[in-house]
Amino acid sequence: MRKAKILATLGPASRTQPQIEAMLDAGISAVRINMSHGSRQEHLEAIANARAAAAKKKRALSILVDLAGPKIRTRNLKGHAPVELKPGASFIITTRDIEGDAAEVSTNFSELPSAVGPGTRILIDDGSIELRVEATNETDVIAKVVVGGWLNERKGINLPDTKLPIPSMTEKDHADLEWAMGQNVDYVALSFVRQAADCHQVKDLIQKMNTRPTGRALLVAKIEMAEAIKNLDEIVEATDGVMVARGDLGVETSVELVPIYQKQIIEKAIANDKFVITATQMLQSMIDSPSPTRAEASDIANAVWDGSDAVMLSAETATGSYPLEAIGTMARIIEAAETVKPAQLRRPVKFSLPPTGRTSQALCKAAALAAKEIMTEKVAVFTESGLMARRLSSVRSGLLTFGLTSSRDACNQLALIWGVDPYMHEYGGSTKQMLREGEKTLLKGGVVQSGETIIMMAGRLSGLGLSSSVIVWTIGEEIPKK
Ligand code: PGA
Ligand code: MN
Repeated sequence: MRKAKILATLGPASRTQPQIEAMLDAGISAVRINMSHGSRQEHLEAIANARAAAAKKKRALSILVDLAGPKIRTRNLKGHAPVELKPGASFIITTRDIEGDAAEVSTNFSELPSAVGPGTRILIDDGSIELRVEATNETDVIAKVVVGGWLNERKGINLPDTKLPIPSMTEKDHADLEWAMGQNVDYVALSFVRQAADCHQVKDLIQKMNTRPTGRALLVAKIEMAEAIKNLDEIVEATDGVMVARGDLGVETSVELVPIYQKQIIEKAIANDKFVITATQMLQSMIDSPSPTRAEASDIANAVWDGSDAVMLSAETATGSYPLEAIGTMARIIEAAETVKPAQLRRPVKFSLPPTGRTSQALCKAAALAAKEIMTEKVAVFTESGLMARRLSSVRSGLLTFGLTSSRDACNQLALIWGVDPYMHEYGGSTKQMLREGEKTLLKGGVVQSGETIIMMAGRLSGLGLSSSVIVWTIGEEIPKK
């Protein structure tokens, strides 16, 4: 079974139920709803269709809602036609509400004139256009075009040298978060996180709006700003998981630093028991082509070897011409990469880190060692909120983890997590019944055979004899009477 998961962004090319069913067959485990694009109605349909597709295919599927954050953008252009900005020309970005042309364009960011000053670099459209500020007044930023190009409508503006005087959540983000929590989504991502406080704010809101009896939506801090790299330790500590958001990261820092940051972010996340998603341009050429470049194949394999829980597709599945081919290609590249053993890649596993003093770590490492000793790679973990399955995954010992839960929400949420194969499972009253039910679930799933010895494990199931324990278990074995 594939251990690294595929997260696909839904969009006009991939929003219907039949499309999502085909995407599940092709290999996705999770979908992203990108709040930077599309209408509320479209997002609602996408979520409903994703849930219906997963139900029909009897598959666990994580739903991630990606909040746009304080993304600064240009506004509309006259006749919706692109304009050419020529090097050396003067260009104005204004907070006045105008239709743009080759001399000026509006922005959604009302504080722009006060946030920048003479000499500030302004990058537009993923850095393809570069301006330098010459002067500002109440409403306008007067700049010179350094690197020219064609400007389309509603393109992103990055200010890599500027500390922005704005909150990390906009009013729209608040409204979108409330909506997402009402939809009971599994993950909420926040764009342009700068510090731990940004994560605390969203996490508090998630906790307040949580309706799940066990567990809650998990927070993904998107690492895409220089400031976030600087504050990486405190952000990783504060969040549930991170995304290596290479698109904006490459503009906010610089392209040659992206591979270095990718390795650092992933390593730090795993060392701290946080999940990590690697994102953006993974199969960029497949937006318009049915086959990948060799560089893309190599990039995906390296993201897997770095230890990503999941790799993400953006425009490839949202608007591209070959969404299913992109997913299939990604799945095959991951499968091939995973035939290489972590030991050969010298991937740091938890065993090499200093002890944490935590029970969950003790149990997870015990399970990994026990599995190695009896030569199985299978561990079944009884977990209501999914937490223990996530902990086990983050040891990255190479184990395949069967997450057994009676919570539909936890089951869906675990779909995104590395090496976890989640199953819905009914709990019996006693330890014996629980083990029997667990066996039945795994046999029915076709993932174990009668007579096979695996590791069974439980976190905190208070009242049950199996609480906080790791046992070596042969499927079908008689349970001795006490
Ligand atoms: P985005 O985030 O696609 O929402 O911009 C990912 C990235 O910046 O890489
Ligand atoms: Mn981004």
